Amino acid sequence: MSKKDYYEVLSVSRDASSADVKSAYRKLAMKFHPDRNPGDKEAEDKFKEASAAYEVLSDPEKRQRYDRFGHQGVEGQGFQDVNDVFSSFGSIFEEFFGMGGGSRRSGPRRGSDLRYDLAVEFEEAVFGVEKDIEFERPTKCDPCKGTGAKDGSGRTNCRTCGGVGQVRRQQGFFAIQTNCPTCHGEGSTIEKPCQDCRGQGAVLKKRKINVKVPAGVDSGVRLRISGEGEPGPAGGQSGDLYVVLHVKESERFSRDGLDLILIQPIGIAQAALGAKLSIKTLDGQVEVVIPSGSQYGDRVTIAGAGVPHLKGVGKGDLHIELKVIVPKKLSKDEKEALQKFADISGENINNQSGGGFFNKMFGD
Ligand SMILES: [Zn+2]
Ligand SMILES: [Zn+2]
Repeated sequence: MSKKDYYEVLSVSRDASSADVKSAYRKLAMKFHPDRNPGDKEAEDKFKEASAAYEVLSDPEKRQRYDRFGHQGVEGQGFQDVNDVFSSFGSIFEEFFGMGGGSRRSGPRRGSDLRYDLAVEFEEAVFGVEKDIEFERPTKCDPCKGTGAKDGSGRTNCRTCGGVGQVRRQQGFFAIQTNCPTCHGEGSTIEKPCQDCRGQGAVLKKRKINVKVPAGVDSGVRLRISGEGEPGPAGGQSGDLYVVLHVKESERFSRDGLDLILIQPIGIAQAALGAKLSIKTLDGQVEVVIPSGSQYGDRVTIAGAGVPHLKGVGKGDLHIELKVIVPKKLSKDEKEALQKFADISGENINNQSGGGFFNKMFGD
């Protein structure tokens, strides 16, 4: 695929001044920047094309090589990776939009997101609940007004990166640009750090907020609470708080997606003859008909008595799973009744004398 001529890309003449090149790129960058055209592939391609052209034409040495040898003259010079193109031009872009304060990358940045793990009861997850949560969050330090510098002391250019905020490492054919490890991308360091915050500009403070947990949540669901994360450095936008839910187990119920499963013990007579039971569900006391001849593990389903769908309408079902209990101890009357049942139904129990099978066999 042949590349478009860089002068054509920026719509400038071959003798355009560096100011003209910059202004042409600025227009294109503002028009096609991915932040302004989310999801628009064509705009993204145009932005990358313009960025690549600007990288070459804004650098006198590269421009000269390009003029003499064309694309071949500058190939292998630039960044190989699309993301590197963006990070490389990020600073230029910020400068254009007045976000960067000079040529440094120390403009307002978004604060980090925070995570809070919240345990809720089984029923609370099904029906929804409101919870007050308290957590520690970095908050702007008052004595230094968030600057991190002790009473009015200034900042000096970072010695590691020379104030750029970024350092470049060569890794094989790739030039990798990363935040400066000394100034963390700020481009400057504090002369005398504030003692209250140790130069961080922020201190941990308790924060209490009310969280609305919607009905139908399950373990692992994350609730995003906008703007409750860490404040952005230098007055930037705050990050978000993610509340990660952990639903406690229930003694009586288990959950299968939106369906609830309730284990209901019943007697052998109830299983055989059928019964009408009053069973406590999450919605309250419900009358349930157990059909005659029910087997261990059979289910009686109440449609729509399960967990509500988290987004939208509809609910799951409630399955009542029957656990037929065989009595471990029998009274004399119960024993007689069961023996009579065995006689009638022809169930051979070999136990009429009460001595048991082996006793009878060996004449003990
Ligand atoms: Zn630095
Ligand atoms: Zn401070």
